[in-house]
Amino acid sequence: MQRYFINGDQLLEDYAIITGENVHHISAVMRANVDDKMILCVHGGNSYLAQIVEINKTEVKAKIVEQKKENVELPVFVTIAQGITKGDKFDWVLQKATEGGASGFIPVAMKRSVAKIDAKKADKKVERWQKIVLEAARQSHRQKVPDVGMPVDMSGLIATMMAYDVCMFAYEAHDMDSKHALADMIASFDAGMRVLLLVGPEGGFDMSEVEALTEAGFIAVGLGPRILRTETAPIYVMSAISYAMEVCRS
Ligand code: SAH
Repeated sequence: MQRYFINGDQLLEDYAIITGENVHHISAVMRANVDDKMILCVHGGNSYLAQIVEINKTEVKAKIVEQKKENVELPVFVTIAQGITKGDKFDWVLQKATEGGASGFIPVAMKRSVAKIDAKKADKKVERWQKIVLEAARQSHRQKVPDVGMPVDMSGLIATMMAYDVCMFAYEAHDMDSKHALADMIASFDAGMRVLLLVGPEGGFDMSEVEALTEAGFIAVGLGPRILRTETAPIYVMSAISYAMEVCRS
């Protein structure tokens, strides 16, 4: 069944008035008609089974049939800060980590980021990334659409530390001390915790970045003995968290 994200103000007492891009998708793409059913997810809120009662070019009115009792969100809020990469790798991370349950994404300009984001084009890029995340959230039956933040540099990222309970960075040159750090961190996670994970770009971390992060209180975590591509690393971590918190624990 098709799923659509709507804003809280589109949900009235026992029906919803759907406007905007969803209308085009419902009527022109899905060719839905009166009586057809769909699932409406209120951003950051509940999901409802709804049935179309009226449809026109600009609006779809749907009767709320029942509230869905589903909770598919990861118990912790994971924000992925990704060193800016070349090509469409970040698109891939957005899509896959949204499937994996990530709560947000922040592109980070790092010393070894070969690609640069032109400040003038950042708005447009973020808009495009939000669309990728929305589509992935819909496809993977998420109840929350992850946020995509504006690009920041390393000091900008460090300045946001207060917003998280745990800040870690996946470090390819991790030593024996950090060999089990990811497992130890995940074992200490409680529901509702806010976690920040920074992944380096293709060229990895510059030593000065490792020092700045460590000094600020970021914990270095290893992701096993093999070097993963930058776009694989966040997916590894999302899978590890889901496995430990959703598959192994009830
Ligand atoms: N060019 C570097 C590898 C960079 S991999 C080299 O050859 O050593 C890109 C990013 O993925 C890294 O900065 C790190 O954040 C993450 N990563 C990849 N493999 C990892 C591993 N085994 N442990 C921890 N982080 C890893």
